[in-house]
Amino acid sequence: MEASSLMADLQRFLRDRCLSVSNLPQKGRSLFTTRDFHPGEVILNQEPYICAPNNTSLESRCDGCFKTNNLKKCSGCQVVWYCGSSCQKLEWKLHRHECKALCRLEKEKRNYVTPTIRLMVKLYLKRNVQNEKVLPITTTDNYSLVEALVSHMSEIDEKQLLLYAQMANLVNLILQFPSIDLRDIAENFSKFSCNAHSICDSELRPQGIGLFPLVSIINHSCSPNAILVFEEKVAVVRAIENIPKDSEVTISYIETAGSTLTRQKSLKEQYLFHCQCARCNNVGKPHDIEESALLEGYRCANENCTGFLLRDPDEKGFVCQKCMLLRSKEEVKKLASDVKTVSEKAPASPSAENKEAAIALYKTIEKLQVKLYHSFSITLMRTREKLLKMLMDVESWKEALNYCRLIVPVYQTVYPATHPLIGLQFYTQGKLEWLLGKTEEAVSSLIKAFEILRISHGTSTAFMKELSAKLEEARAEASYKLFELKDAFDDN
Ligand SMILES: [Zn+2]
Ligand SMILES: [Zn+2]
Ligand SMILES: [Zn+2]
Ligand SMILES: [Zn+2]
Repeated sequence: MEASSLMADLQRFLRDRCLSVSNLPQKGRSLFTTRDFHPGEVILNQEPYICAPNNTSLESRCDGCFKTNNLKKCSGCQVVWYCGSSCQKLEWKLHRHECKALCRLEKEKRNYVTPTIRLMVKLYLKRNVQNEKVLPITTTDNYSLVEALVSHMSEIDEKQLLLYAQMANLVNLILQFPSIDLRDIAENFSKFSCNAHSICDSELRPQGIGLFPLVSIINHSCSPNAILVFEEKVAVVRAIENIPKDSEVTISYIETAGSTLTRQKSLKEQYLFHCQCARCNNVGKPHDIEESALLEGYRCANENCTGFLLRDPDEKGFVCQKCMLLRSKEEVKKLASDVKTVSEKAPASPSAENKEAAIALYKTIEKLQVKLYHSFSITLMRTREKLLKMLMDVESWKEALNYCRLIVPVYQTVYPATHPLIGLQFYTQGKLEWLLGKTEEAVSSLIKAFEILRISHGTSTAFMKELSAKLEEARAEASYKLFELKDAFDDN
């Protein structure tokens, strides 16, 4: 098929889904709605053009379905894993070429075949296999869509270019195509960096990377109206608020909990653009200043005050904007250095043996951070997330629930009301309450989880079905308990 007829096909495909692509100055291609979309509605979905699981020396995943159990290594290349013959068969049309290429590579060089390198190898192989008509070229699955992606090649610094050149060399060594252009590969690495998506499971944990060129048309906003989630490997974009006809659809490329300066820095670094979304355009306005001070600032010297602090004009320290109390620079410095000292001892990812010791260290960090930071601080929130995870690992349900309940209100402040992380946190809270016999509280938390997650995750996936089953079970037990209570009451 010709590229121009593919483009016409794509316009038709989008029109049928009440969408259109326009070119905006500064932003380039952008996706627009041609009708209203309501929260929870699917706007777009797409299978990956190519993808690769995040395999490490510690954990491997099936190349087909990303599952981690019952894996067997491909007997040919010894690089790729499969959960069984059905996944292996599905992938074979592409992997047979990759397998042959990987087999030519010296054994110790195969360790350098990272998920990103594999993604690039697969990109060229898929292009060839589609050109040879072994795999079909379709409206939403073709190399022209990849060619249309931005690369920002001219804005990349020398260090990054050098790295891409080295990676391109390795890809060239694997593929050994006679007519390959190293610059073309390097440019595609730059495209990956701006366009490839991390494929996450329903609990938003990364499983692999993939290229979804249709989804890549959607631009970023720090207060997006849509969200990208994955159902297995399929990218699904859902509306998270009412999106009126003729609006631009936006998703967030980054963690949106952060001050405007933090968000803009990470967008510039990874995606090479200056964000001019509605939220970023508020920079310097009173609300934006308050948000930065809550998310990244210190707490008031008066423990009972919830005010936020700003640097005082005389540079003596930080002044509470509610009670005007001054917190001295020295005090803040001392606490910050205490936090640093303990943090340096705490392992980032503790092993099973030293988990208890790590928990104790993180508790110390948390206590110090509570004294230093505002209660809505992202740093404090991250420490509590770590503690929650570790406590769940060692099955300390009661303590885990305490931290979970501390995290929820922070999420509700730093994320928009329909953000799936709030829903997932309520889900965890509900499960913990259920385990601890707090049935009625569990019901209430699971309802909140369901109400939020049905918008981002839909209602038909296995994950959501499991959530509603848990909710029904908890409800049944709660009414049974109530019944028992009433019974006991009647007996008296
Ligand atoms: Zn599989
Ligand atoms: Zn193989
Ligand atoms: Zn922004
Ligand atoms: Zn105060």
